[in-house]
Amino acid sequence: MKLTTKILLGIGLGLVVGLALNYGAPSVFTTLNDYVFAPVGDLFIKAIKMIVVPLVFFSIVLGAAGISDPKKMGRIGGKTILLYLLTTAIAISIALLLANVISPGEGVDVAKPDKTDIEAAPPIKDTLLNIVPENPVKALAEGQMLQIIFFALAFGAGIALLGNKVNRVKEFVEQANEVMMKLVHLLMKVVPYAAFALMAKAVGEAGLDLIASMGLYMITLLLALLIHMTLTYGAFLKFMAKLNPFKFYKAMFPAMEVAFTTSSSAATLPITMNSVEKGLKVPKSVSSFVLPLGATINMDGTAIMQGTAAIFIAQLYNIDLSFSQQLLIILTATLASIGTAAIPSAGIVMLTIVFPAVGLPLEGLGIILGVDRLLDMARTATNITGDAMVATCVAKSEGADVEVTGESVETAVS
Ligand code: ASP
Repeated sequence: MKLTTKILLGIGLGLVVGLALNYGAPSVFTTLNDYVFAPVGDLFIKAIKMIVVPLVFFSIVLGAAGISDPKKMGRIGGKTILLYLLTTAIAISIALLLANVISPGEGVDVAKPDKTDIEAAPPIKDTLLNIVPENPVKALAEGQMLQIIFFALAFGAGIALLGNKVNRVKEFVEQANEVMMKLVHLLMKVVPYAAFALMAKAVGEAGLDLIASMGLYMITLLLALLIHMTLTYGAFLKFMAKLNPFKFYKAMFPAMEVAFTTSSSAATLPITMNSVEKGLKVPKSVSSFVLPLGATINMDGTAIMQGTAAIFIAQLYNIDLSFSQQLLIILTATLASIGTAAIPSAGIVMLTIVFPAVGLPLEGLGIILGVDRLLDMARTATNITGDAMVATCVAKSEGADVEVTGESVETAVS
């Protein structure tokens, strides 16, 4: 059986088992969740995170060391950030449009909490100003992705400038990178089991009643994600990367599955990189920089959730949002999605920036929290697909022959 099929099977079985237990035997679910689902899922996420920091570091150093022309680096950086901002703004606009048309918050009867215990997020300005690490070892130890990217770029640039004098360092980095990729392949073998555990946990915890009462909100959000993934990404892929979007999705499917089950762009990064480099022939000089940056700052799915959630809560609380307030949502949600950590549920925390900006009550967060774990899965899959799409477009615009090779993490594993 193919790996993708096995993972899908794991997701499907997890869904059925989680729902059945929640509905039929909640106490059995609690025990199984405590001793099986949660620990298995946690172990997997830890193992995959273990790979992220060294992989990102070696990969970026290697990518930067291969760039002989610093102007090229600047050009790639500029295009990347521009595309990231543009696609995120489009994503929120789609979300706002749909939420205004479908009106998921009108006529819904859910309990409105009078307080929330979600702590406010730190200002995004701080995250951006902290890009230069005072201590690179600390940045690596703490997994501070933007700081790691900065240091790795600098280190790689140093290697490029010294050329042949530091061949041994370069060779070491090359081989270390290969070792990390091997670990990714090994880990992929257990994804189907982890997918089962993570899915059973997420659905079992949310339960059917909650899912039903929040149905329209969930549908609006999922629809916006789907439209953005197919139309926006499809258009960029077709016209900018000159690639058949369906073949692109197929190449990225294993990574989407991992993103879906882990709900973490950071944890999925090794698979995203592998799929883009091997499956789409995006050169390392592009992918090694564009993808880790994207996993950290480019979150179209998260932005879609933030836009939809804002309109939904406004409708629930009967607050009228003017056109200029909705524009403000586009602006704040773009910034908030940049500041969102690439870990499960981080997008919700960043709503503490979006809601106050347009005068929405923070208590509203409590309402969407219950179903957010499930939606997190879908939006994380969108997040990493957006990163891969931009990497492919940037590579094409830099003259690379991007194409679907049929080779992916799947072929490497089997
Ligand atoms: N889980 C998302 C991610 O890692 C972030 C979010 O919560 O929206 O991409």
